[in-house]
Amino acid sequence: MIVRARTVVTMDGPPIENGAAAVSGNRIVDVGRFDDIKTRNAGNTLDLGEQVLLPGLINAHCHLDYTCLRGKIPPQKSFTEWIRAINADKATLAPKDYIASINEGFAEAKRFGTTTIANLTVFPELIPQIQPPIRMCWFAELMDIRAPERANELVDSAIESLGRARPELVLSKAEGGAPWGLAPHALFTASKDLFRRCGEIAQREHILLTTHLAESREEMEMFRDASGPLYEFIKSIGRPMDDCGSKTPLELFLDLIGSGGSPNRPRAIEVNRSYPSWIVAHLNELTERDFELLERSNSKFHVVHCPRSHNYFGHSPFAFDRLRSLGFNVCLGTDSLASNESLSLFAEMRAFQKEFPSVSPEEIFQMVTVNPACALRQEKELGKICRGAHADLLAVCSTGGDLFEEIIAFRGEPWIMIAGQVQ
Ligand SMILES: [Zn+2]
Repeated sequence: MIVRARTVVTMDGPPIENGAAAVSGNRIVDVGRFDDIKTRNAGNTLDLGEQVLLPGLINAHCHLDYTCLRGKIPPQKSFTEWIRAINADKATLAPKDYIASINEGFAEAKRFGTTTIANLTVFPELIPQIQPPIRMCWFAELMDIRAPERANELVDSAIESLGRARPELVLSKAEGGAPWGLAPHALFTASKDLFRRCGEIAQREHILLTTHLAESREEMEMFRDASGPLYEFIKSIGRPMDDCGSKTPLELFLDLIGSGGSPNRPRAIEVNRSYPSWIVAHLNELTERDFELLERSNSKFHVVHCPRSHNYFGHSPFAFDRLRSLGFNVCLGTDSLASNESLSLFAEMRAFQKEFPSVSPEEIFQMVTVNPACALRQEKELGKICRGAHADLLAVCSTGGDLFEEIIAFRGEPWIMIAGQVQ
């Protein structure tokens, strides 16, 4: 099939006017000017008219488990209060509710043009029962705060469940690695042993790792000052608090990952693809010393910013300019609907634009396409329209104004193709 559009935004070179992509099976086999594509490829033409053809969007941080909690938790006076509130809501949910919640999330994300989600689930054992209609990178979210002696057991059983994921739309196996990952939840809920165990497995199996880091002021207060509401709450659960009172969350994380981690500069990834490869969500709370450490450190990772969840919590400003100047690969995510209104990455791009009006719309669009593809180690397969990539495409209306500005401003339901199938 040949898909023609007024403009094809490949994210792999300049946009192509009167362009087309040839799709065979579930892959893109050719892309270029419509006249050339027609000459080089057989097949019916699907003409999308004046629309702009785009690569499918990638959500770099999401928790579909909590789609059903949309609007249930009003903003709380502290991050700790929010954790208490979500724990109370979670206590009322059964496995069937989580499966319904995840399926509801798939449908919504797809409606908004998201074709791949890096999704953290607390219930990896439910994954074999789920048939995702979009491409998934599942991460088993792990916490051992109540039973640190079970860290290894927890990881082993998660790995077993992840291995039984329905294979149709998972990611391609990059470099012989498995197309899924592990997510020790955060420094305050996952033990050092759990982080280490996940790191070992990632190194051995070439899988991805993600975690929440330096998200809230209270997390900074807990680790650096051994005080504050999060410190008191976590202490009351029985976590040993001997790592609190001197180091920042980032310092503790760098101690844990050592000189590992993936390179932060996307360009360098081609030459240095060492595992483990960490995708760090949030990174809102950084001290001047943290920035010095980041500048000097060999430990590099990808960063996910969740603009609307960030606004909901009222976190400290995200240091986008500084992280970008250090070469970090910054991606966007929606986080869960327990702290956001929808799973639309278009709305996320608009929220980011409001926060950082000087960043070009094209650069913002990279944060939901090529940047997360790079974080997921799928840069040849996802996030761009090029030969050999998955045929995950969408098309949005355009009036012929500023191309990327119009893309970000798009509201509505785009035309969408996933794995070569028009949806
Ligand atoms: Zn999260």
